[in-house]
Amino acid sequence: MKTEFSLAQLADPDIQEADKILRKCVHCGFCTATCPTYVLLGDELDSPRGRIYLIKDMLENDRPPTGDVVKHIDRCLSCLSCMTTCPSGVNYMHLVDQGRVKIEKEYSRPILERVVRAMLATVLPRPGLFRAGMIAARFAKPFVFLLPKSSPGRVTPTLFDRIRAMLALAPATLPASGPSAGRTFPAEGRKRGRVALLQGCAQQVLSPEINQAAIRLLTRNGIEVVLVAEEQCCGSLTHHMGLEDDALRRARANIDVWTKEADGRGLDAIIVTTSGCGTTIKDYGYMLREDRAYAEKAQRVSALAKDVTEFVAGLDVTWPSDRKNLVVAYHSACSLQHGQKITQLPKELLSKSGFVVKDVPESHLCCGSAGTYNILQPDIAARLRERKIANIASTSPDIVAAGNIGCMVQIGLSSNADGKFFPVAHTVELLDWATGGPPPESFRGSMKSPRVGSA
Ligand code: SF4
Ligand code: SF4
Repeated sequence: MKTEFSLAQLADPDIQEADKILRKCVHCGFCTATCPTYVLLGDELDSPRGRIYLIKDMLENDRPPTGDVVKHIDRCLSCLSCMTTCPSGVNYMHLVDQGRVKIEKEYSRPILERVVRAMLATVLPRPGLFRAGMIAARFAKPFVFLLPKSSPGRVTPTLFDRIRAMLALAPATLPASGPSAGRTFPAEGRKRGRVALLQGCAQQVLSPEINQAAIRLLTRNGIEVVLVAEEQCCGSLTHHMGLEDDALRRARANIDVWTKEADGRGLDAIIVTTSGCGTTIKDYGYMLREDRAYAEKAQRVSALAKDVTEFVAGLDVTWPSDRKNLVVAYHSACSLQHGQKITQLPKELLSKSGFVVKDVPESHLCCGSAGTYNILQPDIAARLRERKIANIASTSPDIVAAGNIGCMVQIGLSSNADGKFFPVAHTVELLDWATGGPPPESFRGSMKSPRVGSA
């Protein structure tokens, strides 16, 4: 794609990057076929190629974002399916990140939308506030019927649609908190390594058992696990909302505490069980490339970051000789398959663990979770969720495995809503179960029924 940035514009390193990315695009349109929003809405401006043109126009002409441009960029899930499909290696992720930052800096959203976004950016990254918010949502849930409903088929959400979506995501009960920050879990037997385990923010409130399973699996296999004190949200949530300063502040704070740990007692890896966070931490090196004080440290942290399945695949695990013969539908989280290019490893590990692993049809399409997307764009998110559930149902699974809490909530939500019951577990919970841990929490109730997975 031809670009026309001026020399003065190209003096800005971000514009230089955008220029490099744009020049790679040959506007072939292959990416449109695998873009969930284009597949659903059929509008070129809701496709990767359309959005690339919108961002190019904004950056090249230094034009403030219009309401229409914002609408189409906001509808992007950042699922990165387009990057997997693109034959020219266009880094859409870094381009749309720039588009979002420009929107947040230069576009004035309607006041109610600003309030919702500010609330999400404040509450979600803070486990204490998030827990309080989930408890409050439980009390508000019975009154959801009082909220006015949008006309059927309305894509652009109202405030009430977003509140309804928020309340729907709140679970009926919250599990007890997991282990506190600062704790170290010693390796069993001969120590073969030492890792930090990202504690996460929403995940530690909604499903602390995921990291507990990871700790059991790792320590059982000779790995010491530390929950680093003063670690905070990785910044992924605010990064995807275009709130660059907040995301970079969080990235720097984490780099400081992880670097101190790595230089102190040593770290072989920083293990991540939420793939959305993993994609962002692996990108810290890029995000802070212009920061002289942090660029090198950020590269080091990004290199240490590993999805839990990546790390476990390198361990000498004794897999069970007996097979559970349970059918596991493997839901490939976008951040894992498109963001980190981890596609086969989780399935291979599940298979070695004795499960019968099935691929979900249309696995490249997002389930609609995408960070705060299912709150900010509830109509599109719900349509994607229903499509995903139908695809999962076609595999007749006993259980669904996924590597990202957002997907687990999104899929779990729907399976209850339309009467089909698929217990949803994190991949690491199944690996832990197969090698000596307890069954995943979501599966325990369903074990009483003779055939799990049907209505
Ligand atoms: S597939 Fe790649 S090169 Fe083709 S239009 Fe999409 S982004 Fe551009
Ligand atoms: S990131 Fe996903 S939703 Fe956004 S343009 Fe690419 S494929 Fe479409």
